[in-house]
Amino acid sequence: MKLSPFLIFAWLCLRTTTHATTARDSLRPGEMLNNSSILTSAQKKFSLKFATIEIPNTSLNTYLVIDRANTTGNVDWIGNRNDPLAYNSCALTLNHSGALIITRHNGDSIVLYSPAEATNRTIATLLDSGNFVLKEIDGNGSTKNVLWQSFDHPEFVLLPGMKLGVNKKSGMSWLVKASISRAKPASGSFTLEWEPREGQLVIKRQGQVYWASGLLRNKRFEHIPEEVQLMYEYNIVSNEEEESFSYTTPNGVSQWVLFHNGQLKDTTRGSEIARADTCYGYNTDGGCQRWEQPTCRKKSDQRDMKKSIRVHFAAAVASLVIVITSIGIFYIILRRRKSALKDNTTRTENKMLKLVALDRYAVSKHHCEVKKRSDSRVFSYASIIAMTNRFSVENKLGEGGFGLVYKGKLPTGEDVAIKRLSKGSRQGVIEFKNELNLISQLQHMNVIQILGCCIHGEERMLIYEYMANKSLDFFLFDRTRKMLLDWKRRFNIIEGIAQGLLYLHKYSRLKVVHRDLKASNILLDENMNPKISDFGTARIFSPQESEINTERIVGTYGYMSPEYVTRGIFSIKSDVYSFGVLILEIVSGGRTNSFYSGERQCNLIGHAWELWQQGKGLELVDPTIRDSCIEDQALRCIHVGLLCAEDNAVDRPTISDIINMLTSEYAPFPLPRRPAFYSRRMPNEECRCTKGSECYSVNGLSISNVVAR
Ligand code: AMP
Repeated sequence: MKLSPFLIFAWLCLRTTTHATTARDSLRPGEMLNNSSILTSAQKKFSLKFATIEIPNTSLNTYLVIDRANTTGNVDWIGNRNDPLAYNSCALTLNHSGALIITRHNGDSIVLYSPAEATNRTIATLLDSGNFVLKEIDGNGSTKNVLWQSFDHPEFVLLPGMKLGVNKKSGMSWLVKASISRAKPASGSFTLEWEPREGQLVIKRQGQVYWASGLLRNKRFEHIPEEVQLMYEYNIVSNEEEESFSYTTPNGVSQWVLFHNGQLKDTTRGSEIARADTCYGYNTDGGCQRWEQPTCRKKSDQRDMKKSIRVHFAAAVASLVIVITSIGIFYIILRRRKSALKDNTTRTENKMLKLVALDRYAVSKHHCEVKKRSDSRVFSYASIIAMTNRFSVENKLGEGGFGLVYKGKLPTGEDVAIKRLSKGSRQGVIEFKNELNLISQLQHMNVIQILGCCIHGEERMLIYEYMANKSLDFFLFDRTRKMLLDWKRRFNIIEGIAQGLLYLHKYSRLKVVHRDLKASNILLDENMNPKISDFGTARIFSPQESEINTERIVGTYGYMSPEYVTRGIFSIKSDVYSFGVLILEIVSGGRTNSFYSGERQCNLIGHAWELWQQGKGLELVDPTIRDSCIEDQALRCIHVGLLCAEDNAVDRPTISDIINMLTSEYAPFPLPRRPAFYSRRMPNEECRCTKGSECYSVNGLSISNVVAR
């Protein structure tokens, strides 16, 4: 609901005592503005006038204000908030010496500006930005100097173009000061300031930082809800002259009001920017800052105090004390209950953050408020909600082992994919941590890029670059869509995956074995370029490690190498095996597990081997691409696929050998041997495949540990 300023600030309900005669926007030397006249900016956006505020029991309630023309209550600036005037006794004058003064009948004048040297060549104009500017002009009427402007004296409102910060030359600091109460516009204790050293906005109360915006990343402050910031363009200036912050909006209409209780709102849109009123000194949500605890009183202080209490607070007020104490206790109990509830949530979230705590992430706060030392960022839950339109069905991209995947839009307009971990999935939590930890350290054009994460309560999400063409299986195994993958594209995909693997195995800072390479984990961008994704089960190898033995076998049947399935041994050669299967799938357009050829061969590798042996390799090529197929390349791919699928890991080529063989006619090509999981005659084999089903043969060895994905 868009709140009317009337409801928020009683004193914003002004009674304008003015009745415009002729509209003008400037005061010239000798001219004055009294409570029966008005200045209106050129396009009639703002007006400057005297207005009264209904403050009970006082007659001193007239103020010089700038407000929106033709509206009531939208006060943007007050010239004398701490020095109200009596009704009907005031005027604003630009005198012949260049001074801008609020005069009153019985009392001192309020000098807004007084020049060091008298000058009669001045003009004070109300601009359409809401800025009231006093300028020195030359004989032609051109501006020589800005002598004074209301934008240099923000009150409780920050308008587009107004600055927060400091002018290093003049020493003038720009800050917004909240009012003292709902009823009175006088300066209160909350201030909105720009902290140039940290590069963040802060809300302070009597010098104590209550709220901080967090750093500006990708043009957005960490602790201001993403959706609130969509409208704003921030301008940060840091040079010899000034350190400042200001903002603009596309239509220039905005009004950041700092309220008496520390809330910061854009009242033109009713949106909350900051809630310093919920910062109690111990909580850290939404940008709240912890305060230093006060030091204990000395014993002597306590003794003196007790003595004084004995003397001055006597039995006569004991009953009053009892009442106050009871109220106090009741209040404390309520507060404790509330904070216990909050602490409970915080503890759970902190536990989660600890779980995903990475070397590169120093976890400092809950609600994803993580200080980052990497490019990855932490998204607020509110921003994810906004980006995915509340996880709407229309935004759903797909579903994987991790959970549902949604499309989202960043405020910059960039599309992203958001993986939302299924709730309560223990397996998923481990994968979440692994993926975040690992993938955020990788950067290659054939490896999916992670943009950040979000943890909120039990929710855990990963945010990736968006891949417009989903995954390889979406095209490859669909009768119609596979036609879009002609030979050139397929070869390009094979090469791209090989390059991504080379990076993972050899050239990234970590030696990574993916462990679940398959068609659905190859994503395609708008140009059908492949990117390896899903690092939930990937493992980092130390430079000395060549293989790892595990009891927890994770992967997908049909892509897993024999030594991994039967003995739990995995190495870069397990990925090579999976890649071989993938190559054969890409060439043939069929799934590894759904091949069915007569009675005997029941998997893709076996089928490919049979054809190769008979010199009929090209028969493996997907019939839909036979026209576009470059035969030599296709045969080379099949040859490489079979080499990758060899039974013995040491006989399989490395990924650099593979790239050599794929791209160079002169690379040495060993002859493939009989691949794994293949036997010529299988009368006693337990090859239980039927067309379209998963099929494997492990010669009687147990694979009960396999975690199917
Ligand atoms: P996954 O959990 O990685 O297996 O993803 C499940 C499905 O969501 C994939 O098969 C894709 O269709 C889709 N998907 C995953 N990541 C992305 C992404 N970065 N861009 C577009 N679609 C994606």
